[in-house]
Amino acid sequence: MSLIVPKCMKCLTEIKGDEEVFVQLKYPKRKGFTEIKAFLNLEGKFICKACSTKINI
Ligand SMILES: [Zn+2]
Repeated sequence: MSLIVPKCMKCLTEIKGDEEVFVQLKYPKRKGFTEIKAFLNLEGKFICKACSTKINI
């Protein structure tokens, strides 16, 4: 369980497990980044499917 709850950057809806999302992020410079979830929570900007459909990603 993560303490950080990912939210859609457009509608602020909580992103649920197994939900299909779009993530905008910077690719990590350093090698060996294994904790992808931590990285996503730190750097990722999530967009839920409903919003991504609305803004045509
Ligand atoms: Zn949304």
